[in-house]
Amino acid sequence: MGILPFALLEGPQASLWAVQAKGSIPIACLILRAMSSGAKRRRKQMPRESKKSKVARVTEFCHRMDKLYGDEPSALDWKTPFQLVIAVLLSAQTTDVAVNAVTPTLFERWGTPEAMAQASPSDVAEVIHRLGFFRTKSEHCVGCAQMIMTDYGGEVPRTMEELVRLPGVGRKTANIVLNKAFGIVEGIAVDTHVFRIAQRMGLTRATTPLAAEQDLLAIIPQELWGGVNSEWIRFGRATCTARLAKCDECPCDDLCPKRPVRHGAGKASKGKGKRRQKTSRAPQQ
Ligand code: SF4
Repeated sequence: MGILPFALLEGPQASLWAVQAKGSIPIACLILRAMSSGAKRRRKQMPRESKKSKVARVTEFCHRMDKLYGDEPSALDWKTPFQLVIAVLLSAQTTDVAVNAVTPTLFERWGTPEAMAQASPSDVAEVIHRLGFFRTKSEHCVGCAQMIMTDYGGEVPRTMEELVRLPGVGRKTANIVLNKAFGIVEGIAVDTHVFRIAQRMGLTRATTPLAAEQDLLAIIPQELWGGVNSEWIRFGRATCTARLAKCDECPCDDLCPKRPVRHGAGKASKGKGKRRQKTSRAPQQ
């Protein structure tokens, strides 16, 4: 009794029926267990890609990205390492265009660590008020400048360890500054675009950008690390977009397992962004 209805149902509906039809619970459980072990078997049967094949695939992907976007100039406007630190710090949860709209005035008034270290965060906030998290960012700008003056003799430090001590500076910003300002490549700056592409390309199963960076470092040849951030960001904006990847026009579709793209994922992350906006803390990046 009760076998046929359970056999035809899946997921939450089947569980609900199982709870409601008390006498049939053992049978329902058996059927549900059989269905889930079938799914596990199917997952196990999927071939696992070897590291060698993954390295070859991502290396070719990087070469194609380099051909497409390698010659494009930096999207952020800056002239000195200090200005780059500030511009990247300001770009958290904001477009590069919006950052470039405020930095001319900002750098005219406080374009050096000496000048910024003496600025008042509220004056800086007034200049950058169009950017998200402007209050926290203004404190980070001044805090960064002060630490550069007191701890590093007025020069932006050149190591990851020292850079991530600066207020508001995380591995992502540090990687960009080391790479763009000093030509030092210590890692890969994994932002939202790089993270998304790496996941869709089946290069990582990590759930955080920091963990994804370690996966990418293990399979991308070191000489290609430097181009990943800026080139993949451009590709992420143009083709492998958050909301709807344009797989039909992708120049790398032969390299991509085309992991199912969750349409609406962009909306979800937008929502998350909105929720974050309510807090006053700018994410460290
Ligand atoms: S095939 Fe689609 S999901 Fe894969 S990299 Fe290209 S655009 Fe992105």
